[in-house]
Amino acid sequence: MGRAILSHFLILSNSAPQLSSSSISKLNGFASRSVRIRQNSKYSNGFRCYCDVSHSQQTSPEDSRTSVTVKKRIVSGVQPTGSVHLGNYLGAIKNWIALQNTYETLFFIVDLHAITLPYDTKELSKATRDTAAIYLACGIDASKASVFVQSHVHAHVELMWLLSSATPIGWLNRMIQFKEKSRKAGDENVGVALLTYPVLMASDILLYQSDFVPVGEDQKQHLELTRELAERVNYLYGGRKWKKLGGRGGAIFKVPEPLIPPAGARVMSLTDGLSKMSKSAPSDQSRINLLDPKDVIANKIKRCKTDSFPALEFDNPERPECNNLLSVYQLVSGKTKEDVAKECQGLNWGSFKPLLTDALIEHLHPIQVRYEEIHSDSAYLDSVLEEGARKASEIADATLKNVYQAMGFLRR
Ligand code: ATP
Ligand code: MG
Repeated sequence: MGRAILSHFLILSNSAPQLSSSSISKLNGFASRSVRIRQNSKYSNGFRCYCDVSHSQQTSPEDSRTSVTVKKRIVSGVQPTGSVHLGNYLGAIKNWIALQNTYETLFFIVDLHAITLPYDTKELSKATRDTAAIYLACGIDASKASVFVQSHVHAHVELMWLLSSATPIGWLNRMIQFKEKSRKAGDENVGVALLTYPVLMASDILLYQSDFVPVGEDQKQHLELTRELAERVNYLYGGRKWKKLGGRGGAIFKVPEPLIPPAGARVMSLTDGLSKMSKSAPSDQSRINLLDPKDVIANKIKRCKTDSFPALEFDNPERPECNNLLSVYQLVSGKTKEDVAKECQGLNWGSFKPLLTDALIEHLHPIQVRYEEIHSDSAYLDSVLEEGARKASEIADATLKNVYQAMGFLRR
């Protein structure tokens, strides 16, 4: 992702204290929901608002004299439910790499989410370590980002309980992922955690007062719920009510914005261009795992679903598989969409598939080599996760303390 696009910012005057809710700002090449900026007395003489993208944010005009800089914060995570696949990589992890240079970043392995469907207790801790090693192998730099395991920071579960009391059950019943996953698992048998998992996800995000959350399309609805929940808790317990209880007043939680990548936000299954690639899909043929050996990649591409249209093209709604495979090729080869469209318009499946296979192998090979190195150095991996959890706990505990106070609990 080009660095040049990292630094656009908006200069707002008093006459435009609020951006319209439909406006879209481009952040690091991601689409973000509009950033609503409410008028703030501090900024009464006109102000510069870095919304943000800039490398740092000046919090008020006065701050510019003392050069107080605050980096915006980003959190994201992947479940250790199985093998990390191309969708997780192109929709999430790959995009984190550029973000860690600009923002304060926390990337965690969301092991508590991995138990929402039946799972293998013997596999969970191994999958958690493997996922951490994949983050680092993909290019997450532990000297810039905090990398940690969700269950190692106790505040996640604690805040979830507090947030649950403010979450209307109707909000959770509406979640598409709950409906889909519970139907697949047999409605009567699913655990309550599958329903309440978005509250844990809200807790994961709100604990860190996150500004942005890079996610694939499938998580957009959960992010919207997180935003609504933050606003609801701020309304129910924040502001003057909190102040009367001895708190600082104001908003308890920052309301986060999703960052959806312009391409790769929804990588589709290799066996069905209308379903997303997923760790929990029963067939391994439906996905390319980041650690798949060369011959497995070649075999999966050889057997993947295609169509019988002549030539290859992007964006034809009748050809979801074609669009998906061309998009994957675009992202792993690093070419532009226009270049790929031109290169592939005269090809048929027989000539395109080897191109895609080679591009995938070439892109994933260095990650696989680094993965082996990192994975074999368990002391290093442990130290990264320990330090990550320490830093994360500091931020999370401060938020949790505020929530307990604002909700009226007796101080410890
Ligand atoms: P599961 O099937 O167990 O839910 P998953 O494949 O959906 O697993 P998650 O761990 O739930 O993976 O998601 C981790 C991150 O990867 C999230 O940010 C999610 O939006 C993103 N992601 C998951 N699948 C895709 C996909 N097919 N395309 C793009 N992004 C994806
Ligand atoms: Mg998922």
